Amino acid sequence: MSVYSGPVFDMARQQFDGIADYLDIDIKHRDRLFLPKRAIAVTCPIHRDDGSVAVFQGYRVQHHLSCGPTKGGTRFAASVDMGEVAALAVWMSWKCALTGLPYGGGKGGIAVDTTTLSPRELEALSRRYMQEMIPFVGPDIDVMAPDVGTNEQVMAWFMDTYSVHHGHAVPQIVTGKPLAAGGTAGRREATGRGVVHLIGRAAEEIAMPLLGATAIVQGFGNVGSVAALELAQRGVRVVGVSDHSACYYDPAGLPVAELDAHVREHRCLAGFTTQCTIDPQALLVQPCDILVPAALERVIDADTAARLQCRILAEGANGPTTPDADRVLRERGDDVFVIPDILCNSGGVVVSYFEWVQGIQKIFWEEDEVNRRLLVILDRAFDQVIARARRDRVGHRTAALAIGVDRVLQTKISRGLFP
Ligand code: NAD
Repeated sequence: MSVYSGPVFDMARQQFDGIADYLDIDIKHRDRLFLPKRAIAVTCPIHRDDGSVAVFQGYRVQHHLSCGPTKGGTRFAASVDMGEVAALAVWMSWKCALTGLPYGGGKGGIAVDTTTLSPRELEALSRRYMQEMIPFVGPDIDVMAPDVGTNEQVMAWFMDTYSVHHGHAVPQIVTGKPLAAGGTAGRREATGRGVVHLIGRAAEEIAMPLLGATAIVQGFGNVGSVAALELAQRGVRVVGVSDHSACYYDPAGLPVAELDAHVREHRCLAGFTTQCTIDPQALLVQPCDILVPAALERVIDADTAARLQCRILAEGANGPTTPDADRVLRERGDDVFVIPDILCNSGGVVVSYFEWVQGIQKIFWEEDEVNRRLLVILDRAFDQVIARARRDRVGHRTAALAIGVDRVLQTKISRGLFP
């Protein structure tokens, strides 16, 4: 029996099998390409504030080491298990290869509902998780970053725990750190900023002006809130937003900056207003030009895909669209322009790469420099995906995955199989 199971892992496998067939990859390479190199499960006990001891299960999956260290986020969420983390690590590999970064994919997390932890308990759990991971990670082995449920502060605790163990500061062990702990300018905004830049490119492709267009954003965390703010700055009317606590829809437009200020103060959207609430699933199928799922996996299934009314589907989240939904979108023709997740949200790992490079070199760039370099990489990846999709008459997801998978395959073939 495999240690990897569950719907998210099955989805990653199904996608890979389709790409392997499309690329006609020899059967002898397939499992080697897809199955993770390493999977680590750890038990993390902490003292609770009431003096009791609570035990949490943590995971880390390192997908492949062929191009450099593994790289990827750390998720603190109740849903986290080995299968989910493995799928996310696999997707990170294709994403890093698509954008030309010298990494394999990694991902990790803890099965925990962070709303049940006090700030001290969250710090204890973060530090204990990194402590358990120290034998398996390193700046040249596996570099962590934030994901759902973690943020700059958690990364600072990870960095501090690792550094204390080694007796000197090792900022390049994690990315997404605060500036004060060796982070880079522009990392916190990078994913949402990249999402909106690529929405701009997609809008050009379909000759749709952004000014006056409408958008719905699901998820109002790191990715969703920055995407919503950047869209509003570009003159897009944000008509719908949601998070785990509330869901708002107003065709006249929502005050994004005020929503952001509310979330900064209260940590969620709930309580902002009692007006214009809507059922979360109904939000996704309201009319809009741009739909940005920026929360969790598998939120767009076949049924939802058939009812989407957007022109651009910009996948800020990882794996928001199921393979069945993809099939439905293909059958609908190309009236929905999909920016697939491994392209759409890649701004985060690109600027994480910049942070790692700056940390190693002990040289720091201005935010303008970070953003300029980010857009060069995103534009190149976008152009390559569009060109491949046109050449082979395939969807954007197939094109993006094919470029990523094929690059990892070529690296493995050229390095050979040891021994
Ligand atoms: P986050 O924890 O900052 O925010 C997640 C948001 O989703 C929160 O607003 C939360 O309330 C909301 N949410 C949770 N359950 C929901 C539900 N059922 N319906 C609606 N909203 C819900 O996480 P994040 O870093 O913004 O990550 C969001 C997605 O983007 C994830 O899929 C993550 O893997 C992906 N991603 C993040 C980064 C990054 O740099 N943070 C990079 C690439 C991809």
